[in-house]
Amino acid sequence: AKAAGRNRYAIFGSHMDELVRARRQMEQDLRIALEGHQISVHYQPVYSAKDQVLKGVEALVRWRHPQKGAIPPDVFIPVAEETRLIEPLGELVLREACFAAVHWPDLTVAVNVSAIELRNETYAMRVLSTLNAAGLNPTRLEIEITESALGDNSGHCERNIAALRALGIRFALDDFGTGFSSFGRLQSLDVDRIKIDKCFVDGFGKPGGNEEIVRAMIKLAQAKGLRTTAEGIETPEQNAVLQRLGCDDVQGYLLSRPVPAAAIDAMLASDAGI
Ligand code: C2E
Ligand code: CA
Ligand code: CA
Ligand code: CA
Repeated sequence: AKAAGRNRYAIFGSHMDELVRARRQMEQDLRIALEGHQISVHYQPVYSAKDQVLKGVEALVRWRHPQKGAIPPDVFIPVAEETRLIEPLGELVLREACFAAVHWPDLTVAVNVSAIELRNETYAMRVLSTLNAAGLNPTRLEIEITESALGDNSGHCERNIAALRALGIRFALDDFGTGFSSFGRLQSLDVDRIKIDKCFVDGFGKPGGNEEIVRAMIKLAQAKGLRTTAEGIETPEQNAVLQRLGCDDVQGYLLSRPVPAAAIDAMLASDAGI
């Protein structure tokens, strides 16, 4: 039994080594990516649910690795967070998004921020200087945070949020409903919007669907004076349900995938009838 245990440990051990090596490689690659031109930003349009008018965009980071091709953010963001590379990465995305948004005067631009970034006490100051550099009005920017931003004992997160909200920047609680105590958290959190996670929208029209849960989320948000966005709308049926439930805004592949900035320029030009 002892030998088998040791053997198992050896297998486990070598697997761990491989994981550690892969992470280290990704860290190195990410450093190079940040210095070169491998990182870009795509923008997913957000529409009003009621009349399907383009209201804003969400900035989503993209990494094109010279050998490995596109690497999804769900894969490299956690590595960036562990290595603190999330700070230069987040700054790059914010900067790109703010400079792009200057050309889209009627749109709100939403940027995702990691809890790691928000815990740095200089975060608010750096956002302000990026806005100033771009010449973007703070009211045009929305920052998407997740529940993980909230278990912060230092108080830096809260202070950053308060300072930025005082400037007119809005905050959204992303992936709402997927955490441990979303409803409870809402009590202690200063946000302007909740983003209802795709997993709830997925169930619409299916047995055991989540329509009642989403109805409750929207009611709660309305009672607290918060706006609502539903993400991951893929079918006209889902779109119709959200409209009926009184959700403010919708976002999903049905309406548009994330696209390069030039495609947003083109959408706005065609809307204006140019
Ligand atoms: P998220 O913030 O919840 O973003 C929504 C994700 O859902 C995006 O994936 C988007 O492309 C995808 N999506 C949108 N509509 C649909 C749909 O109708 N169907 C499906 N199946 N998916 C849809 P993406 O771009 O791969 O990003 C994944 C996650 O990575 C994001 O989730 C966010 O948590 C993180 N992320 C992306 N960009 C950044 C960034 O600049 N900074 C940070 N900190 N995190 C980011
Ligand atoms: Ca988001
Ligand atoms: Ca989300
Ligand atoms: Ca997500």
